[in-house]
Amino acid sequence: MKARLLQIAPLAIAAAVASSAAQAQGQLNLYSYREAKLIQPLLDSFTKDTGIKVNLISASSGLDQRIKSEGEKSPADALLTVDIGRLEDAVRAGVTQPIKSAELDKVIPAQYRDPEGHWYAVAARARVVYASKERVKQNAITYEELAEPKWKGKICIRSGQHMYNNALFAHVVAKFGAAKAEEWLKGLKANLAQKPSGGDRETARDIAAGKCDLGIANTYYWALMNDQDPDKKPWADATKVILPTFQGGGTHVNVTGVVLTKHAPNKANAMKFIEWMVTPKAQEMFANMTYEYPLRAGVPINKTIAAYGTLKPDPTPIAQIAQHKKTAATLVDKIGFNN
Ligand code: FE
Repeated sequence: MKARLLQIAPLAIAAAVASSAAQAQGQLNLYSYREAKLIQPLLDSFTKDTGIKVNLISASSGLDQRIKSEGEKSPADALLTVDIGRLEDAVRAGVTQPIKSAELDKVIPAQYRDPEGHWYAVAARARVVYASKERVKQNAITYEELAEPKWKGKICIRSGQHMYNNALFAHVVAKFGAAKAEEWLKGLKANLAQKPSGGDRETARDIAAGKCDLGIANTYYWALMNDQDPDKKPWADATKVILPTFQGGGTHVNVTGVVLTKHAPNKANAMKFIEWMVTPKAQEMFANMTYEYPLRAGVPINKTIAAYGTLKPDPTPIAQIAQHKKTAATLVDKIGFNN
């Protein structure tokens, strides 16, 4: 009996202390497009470090519109999301306010943040090539080469209007201009083995099944299939990841980022959270959980991701790529990429 009491008492005290610290430090309402299950350990770590309790609302779509319709009374303090498209959607919906932080400006390179501070990236993913281990001998490729006739009938890809491809194609427009980008898209379309379909994992599946030799997909899917998904491990086993580059440039990367909401009721706590996200500890934890690239220099990259080779991101600022998203979408329709 006595022993039991001794065991329980410290826990009870710890819980009381933690909850009073949380109350003392207040809370943070985080809206997120990233799954609760995935990011909860990160949020727990933040609470442990700061005493700030995080109330998480996660959804797979529509959060910017939800914040907009909640208006001035919105409880949202910050929004965490993948993809530049969604960050820009939030800015366009008018639900953001500029973040001013010398710390963030020091840690996050200028190419990964909005020039006006309406969003900051906290991690990056690259859109790369998955290739058949058996049928593709080369270990390097350019984005330009994907449109060359040597790959006729050999490439698989998801919809040209999916946000990941839209950002890649917008990058092509930023690099080449609209007319040349259209030619490139036509070349890529001519090389497709099948109508654009599925997601990035299905692209690996179709390479494994011999339907195509190359696919375009994000860096983390291969790692997730390889490390965490026994059913899809054979798709990873049949493929290798090649980090393509633009001729004379680098690899297309997209981001996970955060915005501070316009009417954030707990603004100071939101700023603490965003700044905490770029600490070495949080960067390593987040990058390992999501299989993304940390953006803070010197933070170790997840082992499976690091094994792809050294990522050399193209220097075109993400905000500049975003300016060409509309043109990219128009070109996809114009050439009938998805037909
Ligand atoms: Fe994804």
